[in-house]
Amino acid sequence: MTALYVLGSGSRGNCCAVECDGATVLIDAGFSPREIERRAESTGLSLGSVGAIVLTHEHGDHARGAGRLARRLGVPVLTAPGTWVRLGPRMRHAEHRALGLCTRVQIGPFAVTACPTSHDAAEPLALAVECADGSRVGVAYDLGRPTAAVRYLLRDMTAIVLEANHDDVLLRTSAYPPVVQRRIAGSGGHLSNRAAAELLTEMHHPGLGVVVLAHLSRQCNTTDDARATVAPALRRAGFGGALYVADQDEPLGPIPVVPGAGAQLRLAL
Ligand SMILES: [Zn+2]
Ligand SMILES: [Zn+2]
Repeated sequence: MTALYVLGSGSRGNCCAVECDGATVLIDAGFSPREIERRAESTGLSLGSVGAIVLTHEHGDHARGAGRLARRLGVPVLTAPGTWVRLGPRMRHAEHRALGLCTRVQIGPFAVTACPTSHDAAEPLALAVECADGSRVGVAYDLGRPTAAVRYLLRDMTAIVLEANHDDVLLRTSAYPPVVQRRIAGSGGHLSNRAAAELLTEMHHPGLGVVVLAHLSRQCNTTDDARATVAPALRRAGFGGALYVADQDEPLGPIPVVPGAGAQLRLAL
């Protein structure tokens, strides 16, 4: 059985984990190693089972603890080549494995694939982790707009962790200066609740069982606003699975990654 953990998500730190057959892959390490350990422990996740840390990009809220945690756990760090160069000395003594756009990297029971995202970083990626039991977990945050590549990567997921960063109105009426508002809403920034709802509607298929909304802005979004925008759209698309909203401070998990009600119905017929 595959399980998903979102140890925290937001502009102050991001870290998820996918666990399958006693093995774990960590996706982003945007907190200190001690904080990741504390959060993992609170969910019952053993970091001793981590086989690799995969990074989406080099921003501190995604990579802050990666080098130190990788050295402590003795595991490799998977990133795009440009991300590794940008991380530079922060990753000293950590082992690197390059995550290319057309490659599939095997880590124990997991196969990791990636595609580029539209974000103001060196070589940012969205990720898909396929587990030995056939389930697939997609992670896409910090994307200014959903590109064709992201749509292709996320087309057949069992679980999706997707950015729902801001509510359009709360962003426009926020205290952020116009230039910052434009950067957040721009094609190199972050996905709004509305854009997340549209992408999820498009990505929905009977096998989609879990959706986690992530990277919510504290200034320009609320759990209720994100859920109120996305839940009805998913329902209209026929989604019969579980919808979660990730929090900056409260870890989520273990979330069982099981196919959606639509797929179960098909299997039963
Ligand atoms: Zn970023
Ligand atoms: Zn971020």
